[in-house]
Amino acid sequence: MVASTRSLEMPVQYIPRVGPAMAKGLLRLGIHTVRDLLLYPPFRYNDFSLCPPIQSLRPGEIVTIQGTVVSFENVFTKSYKKLARARIQDKSGILTVIWFNQLYLSKIITVGSMIQLSGKVDWFGHELSMQSPEYEIVSNDKETLHTGRIVPVYPETHGVSSKWLRGRMRFALTEYDDLLEDTLPDVIRSRYAFPRLAQTLESIHFPTSLAKAEDARKHLAFLEIFFLVLRSNYTRAKWIQTKHSPILSLSDEDKESFLSFLPFTLTSDQQNASAEILQDLGRSVPMNRLLIGDVGSGKTVVAAFACFASYKNGYKSVIMAPTQILAEQHFNSLQEIFRKTTIKIGLVTSKSKKSDDLSAFDILVGTHALLTKEREFSKLGLIVIDEQHRFGVRQRQLLEEKEKSHTPHILTMTATPIPRTITLTVYGNLDVSILSSLPVGRVRVKTWLVGNEKRENAYKWARNHIKNEHGQIFIVCPFIEESESMATVKAAESEFLRLKNTVFREYNIGLLHGKQKADEKKKTLEDFRNRKLDILVTTPVVEVGIDIPGATVMIIEAAERFGLSQLHQLRGRVGRGMKQSYCYLFSESLDETSKIRLKTLETVYSGPELSEIDLSIRGPGEMYGLKQHGIPLFHFARLSDQTIMASAQKEVRTLIEKDPELKDFPHLRIRMEKATIEPSIAQN
Ligand code: ADP
Ligand code: MG
Repeated sequence: MVASTRSLEMPVQYIPRVGPAMAKGLLRLGIHTVRDLLLYPPFRYNDFSLCPPIQSLRPGEIVTIQGTVVSFENVFTKSYKKLARARIQDKSGILTVIWFNQLYLSKIITVGSMIQLSGKVDWFGHELSMQSPEYEIVSNDKETLHTGRIVPVYPETHGVSSKWLRGRMRFALTEYDDLLEDTLPDVIRSRYAFPRLAQTLESIHFPTSLAKAEDARKHLAFLEIFFLVLRSNYTRAKWIQTKHSPILSLSDEDKESFLSFLPFTLTSDQQNASAEILQDLGRSVPMNRLLIGDVGSGKTVVAAFACFASYKNGYKSVIMAPTQILAEQHFNSLQEIFRKTTIKIGLVTSKSKKSDDLSAFDILVGTHALLTKEREFSKLGLIVIDEQHRFGVRQRQLLEEKEKSHTPHILTMTATPIPRTITLTVYGNLDVSILSSLPVGRVRVKTWLVGNEKRENAYKWARNHIKNEHGQIFIVCPFIEESESMATVKAAESEFLRLKNTVFREYNIGLLHGKQKADEKKKTLEDFRNRKLDILVTTPVVEVGIDIPGATVMIIEAAERFGLSQLHQLRGRVGRGMKQSYCYLFSESLDETSKIRLKTLETVYSGPELSEIDLSIRGPGEMYGLKQHGIPLFHFARLSDQTIMASAQKEVRTLIEKDPELKDFPHLRIRMEKATIEPSIAQN
């Protein structure tokens, strides 16, 4: 190999026996470079380290046996199944081994060769045997990779098997381990007794015990979290040092007058959040605050308060929403709130003309269309980004850069359902305000889990509910893929037709999904809001934030596919008015665990609490919707690694306090500035 190409950044294609075709497969697994390969985590291990003599095998045991191939034949069973049968002999006895449909094995498993087999021992007819075990021809000088040890199992993709990956991993570890840098400062590394990174990677892929594998995982999890938190703290420190914003303070009188615009009083959470935001706005350091609140917790009015402060100081505000529907909804809410004032509110969507004069507005609400190159703002004091996870870092920057003379204050909002304990790790570069209670007087959405046998009853109930109570109904179709794909849309379309032609024949029913044209969506929603439609069939991913006061019933299909907090968000779309509202969780197939899990929705009504429960029931890495909400999915860390998170946060804090510029650790600084993280973490 050419010396200059020997780098962890080398494309994985150039590793011997990878090549362009396999590299394509690896790319599907997110592996571009040698570094990516080395950091590709196994998702479990097979413990094949028990190696008893053949004579002492017992049924049900998972073992490795080593012996000589004494016979091998391809045969057909009575039912014409193709089957390969080998007999393996060690010092203590002989074992029959069987593979189905793998006739090519005769080329590999030849009589006389020494072989190692790992798998489960079981009865085959009257004798003990192993069926379709992992196999590996043994030679004296070579360590085994697939048998006789703890064997890593990797997430696979078409054409890239765990077995193949193991071989390349072994090669890469041996060949490139000297290039792995230990980026963690030595003091920290020794405090936690972390070995060298090279050794840790050896242990994560080819551990000598499961405990060693777990230690290695913890080391890598620490690195992952440490660099995530370090980066956000470092960025934040820089931000505070270098950026300046206009001071947007609000007098008590002005605060009072804003509150007088509202038809309700703020909840205490809203008051606290507003106070924190107004305090930030009153400083020349730019605000960078995240407002977290369940669906329906009333984030919009808090944002409006901030816009008011901007306005009172002679500055404009911009509110960016991910969809046209949400932008219009904000536009309407703000017009309502500020109707007694002379504040001018504008709406920018993909349909707005570039020639529209934006300088005339005090508050501009819009979609991505706000980002169009030609537009520039002067005297922009505040940027509000709703559903922040739906926008990329770059989009936020673009908006910021529209104001040339200073940095606007930034308020981002989200309903992301993550446990509070994790918030700090994930959003380390932001200050956080939380709305945890819903406005008073809001009635709880009565929730039931409905099995298949009760489905018809529920439909009947729903029809009566429309007829007698004039309630409106959302029907959410099954969650098929994370982003709204054609499969999801098709499922919604066919469910819509089914319901329209059978169950709800006498009612007005509409369909809403993300692949429709903006106009069509808008019309459907307006019809629903104006009660021209009784029922709206939708996909799960669209328009989480929409506010339809007349909707009182939420029916969710295949509820078992959703996470609890996701279901909680969905049911938050009903019960906006004062009427009793209902949520039916339909589920066709329910095992006991999903039943217990879904039943918690009948009694628990707090978003954060539900996300904690989700975490504990579904286990680490299994929380639905995290990716959808822009939370970086860790490779090694688990959401339950609270202790590691706390330690990593502590270490970063100490480091940054002593050495805010990272002068003593220039290599760390370079990593921060290039935002390349070791181990690599998805951009958040
Ligand atoms: P979200 O946090 O999901 O964006 P919204 O801002 O859309 O929630 O608010 C949901 C509804 O609650 C709106 O109709 C809003 O007018 C109403 N609302 C907000 N705050 C209060 C409050 N303190 N008391 C009563 N209703 C409120
Ligand atoms: Mg909202």
